[in-house]
Amino acid sequence: MKYISTRGQAPELSFEEAMLTGLASDGGLYVPETIPTLTHEEIASLNGLSYEDIAFKIMKPFIGEAFTDDEFKGIIKKAYANFGHIARAPMVQIGDNHFLLELFHGPTLAFKDFAMQLIGQLFQASLSRSGKRVTIVGATSGDTGSAAIEAFKGLNNVDVFILFPHGRVSDVQRRQMSTPSESNVHALAVQGDFDDCQGALKDMFADIEFRDHVKLAAVNSINWARVLAQVVYYFSSAVALGAPNRKVSFTVPTGNFGDIFAGYIAKKMGLPIDRLVIATNQNDILHRTMATGAYTKQGVVPSISPSMDIQISSNFERALFDAYGRDGSVISDLMADLKSGEFKVSDEAMQALNTHFSSGRASEEETSQTIAAYYEKTGEVLCPHSAIGVKVADENIQETVMVTLATAHPAKFPAAVQEACGIHPDLPARMSDLFDREERFSVVANDLEGLKSLIKERLA
Ligand SMILES: *Cc1c(COP(=O)(O)O)cnc(C)c1O
Repeated sequence: MKYISTRGQAPELSFEEAMLTGLASDGGLYVPETIPTLTHEEIASLNGLSYEDIAFKIMKPFIGEAFTDDEFKGIIKKAYANFGHIARAPMVQIGDNHFLLELFHGPTLAFKDFAMQLIGQLFQASLSRSGKRVTIVGATSGDTGSAAIEAFKGLNNVDVFILFPHGRVSDVQRRQMSTPSESNVHALAVQGDFDDCQGALKDMFADIEFRDHVKLAAVNSINWARVLAQVVYYFSSAVALGAPNRKVSFTVPTGNFGDIFAGYIAKKMGLPIDRLVIATNQNDILHRTMATGAYTKQGVVPSISPSMDIQISSNFERALFDAYGRDGSVISDLMADLKSGEFKVSDEAMQALNTHFSSGRASEEETSQTIAAYYEKTGEVLCPHSAIGVKVADENIQETVMVTLATAHPAKFPAAVQEACGIHPDLPARMSDLFDREERFSVVANDLEGLKSLIKERLA
């Protein structure tokens, strides 16, 4: 299996190379050259298998010869061993024809654990074979950083540095990053905002001498291996609801378009998905694009669903690539247009997108109202991100059964949840001592050179 760039100018890579590289050298994103498909019988035979066995069958065709079957099975087993639910991704019914897929039973209580735990084990297996060591640096507004630290802590061939905005992540998120005691974990509270953290990270990657010196690697949401890991739960949930003999639709709370793009891949592989519904908060660039065909940048307005507060949606480029018949030069031109704030999607490409995707948005007030209404109606306490999905799903339910992805545990966002429905969501028992654990993080100035020296010193 070969991977090609959405902008058509970067070298083709293997799965392992694409995973270790992240972004393509032409600025594009890696996608598989062809999408493997499963027959009706093959999909039907997934029914009743464990999450791990389904994961192996779905992901194996994409990884090629990178790992032997036994190695890959071992990697998957380790990745999901620390989840707090035997089903890994269980479902509950919340309405007629409406199910909630709970993706928050991983070690940091958000769906990012599904991809990050797997990628941690994949990196470890690949690096211990080559004898190489890498330094992962990430910027986070909360969920990605905690998931990365939890996935890479204690691994032999990796150091992990996470930059987060000092004082601007929730207490739960900060403690998830600052309480692991493993010596390869470095939580850095930057005196600045999320954009400063992201900017510093970008500048580090642009500094070739620094990048080579510390063997810099990235595990952000454009990494293909992360998308791949997320394809699995579309299959496990759809099959549990009767696929391939019954169609299923999904609604996905969306920011960077990674999670919903995984659903699109599942559909391409043959899973009978009817609609993929994009649900955004007030930072609604994707909903506006689907409504108007104009992809226009606006400033980010902070919301009670902070993990969806984005200005541009990186993984959307992968969907555009297909919508434009996989013509990398068109994508390259569109992204050049975006530098001045906007590009227009052609009518033909919009038509292609509309065959798969619908969209909707929820305001702050609608989000809170949905948390309250669903608590009253079903007893289910939704996190703000999941509530946005549920609200938009309700507007899009037709005859086909709808699955809404619940992307985080309500206890990760206790203030917004309590404000909305009066319930203080408790942390699961396995992490109820989070607030008693000792914290360890460094407060650092928003200064690129200072950050680079600190990283070099810690590695020495
Ligand atoms: C990251 C995140 C999202 C958005 O996911 P994308 O793949 O970026 O679309 C939604 N909800 C939560 C809780 C998240 O952490």
